[in-house]
Amino acid sequence: MSTPAGLPPTLVGTGELFQLLRDGTPRTRGELAELSSLARSTITARVDAMLSSGLLEPVGEAASTGGRPPTRFALNRRDRVVLAIDLGASHASVAVSDLSGKVLDERTVASDIADGPLVVLDRAAAIGIELLAGLGREPGDVAGVGIGVPGPVEHATGRPANPPIMPGWHDFDIPAHLGQQFGGPVLVDNDVNLMALGEFVTSWRSAPHLLLVKVATGIGAGIVTDGRLLRGALGSAGDLGHVQVAGAPADVVCRCGNTGCLEAVAAGPAIAAKLRAKGVDVESSQEIVDAVSSGDVAALQAVREAGRDLGSVLATCVNLLNPSVIVIGGKLSEAGEYLLAGVREVVYQRSLPLATHDLRIVGTSAGSHGGILGASAMVIDAVLAPDAVDQYVAARIA
Ligand SMILES: [Zn+2]
Repeated sequence: MSTPAGLPPTLVGTGELFQLLRDGTPRTRGELAELSSLARSTITARVDAMLSSGLLEPVGEAASTGGRPPTRFALNRRDRVVLAIDLGASHASVAVSDLSGKVLDERTVASDIADGPLVVLDRAAAIGIELLAGLGREPGDVAGVGIGVPGPVEHATGRPANPPIMPGWHDFDIPAHLGQQFGGPVLVDNDVNLMALGEFVTSWRSAPHLLLVKVATGIGAGIVTDGRLLRGALGSAGDLGHVQVAGAPADVVCRCGNTGCLEAVAAGPAIAAKLRAKGVDVESSQEIVDAVSSGDVAALQAVREAGRDLGSVLATCVNLLNPSVIVIGGKLSEAGEYLLAGVREVVYQRSLPLATHDLRIVGTSAGSHGGILGASAMVIDAVLAPDAVDQYVAARIA
């Protein structure tokens, strides 16, 4: 008799037991029995199944309480690898990580998203295969592929949905295309969502309600709540760029056709236009950051003003979502404290006291790595989930 996952009845729940070992802490059978309240014989059968399928490995012995010292077991991080891809408007980063999310190798190349899905995805896949070969691994060793793209995505199907800066990508079946070349599932998300997840898993596991805002050529947010990404009904949650800023000049027309959008007053191109009107010769977000670094007073003021506009929209988000941390990322966050100071000024003034009691507003710590780390974390969460572990064990012990 076997279950839907193909496991014999004694092994049903192996994936649940495995969750106790996800944090990497080595544990003995006795410790697992205590934590799970399962019988020792059940623990032994399930640990044996996870050992023989490669999910766990023995890592030394615990202190003996008389007799033979008990063996400790932990997640076998090297059992399989994860391929993480972060696509931007003009770059592609590709990395291979282990099952703990540790990056084993990575490469970033110039890559124009407007080259279309076939060219861009095949370019990234070729780099992935090279990185795998360099690590002595094969495409079949890949537990799953995580990919972030610079536009809205219907996460359930992995298809971009009318992405404004990605010509030719609308409704393209990314999982079907990449799935031919690698093992495991192919999971697709918006790049800002993955930055939020990357920031959460690397720095803020103790703060499971996190809002990450990317401020660059555009403005967007990723929302982590209870340690999980909040995507909304169709995956467009967090699209902050086109929220109207209170008091924004009515003559500021956004690329979306509306007036007074956050992006039209506080993103890189808007700040650069204001500075050019004052005679400061800047075009890109990088040039704004450089002007701030060199102490240009007009640039400092313009960035701080953008921070206040951002803060006025974030104050509403804080009242709605009650995050414990807001992380400001993206190119313009490299302008440092000036942007953060403007955000803090308005958020602490305009949000409700209870919502800001423990709220921290900080710069990014994962930086440009956030997308890769988030893509890897998204895959690991999926392939090490209880059901996925049950299926993996069933396939390996069959
Ligand atoms: Zn707009």
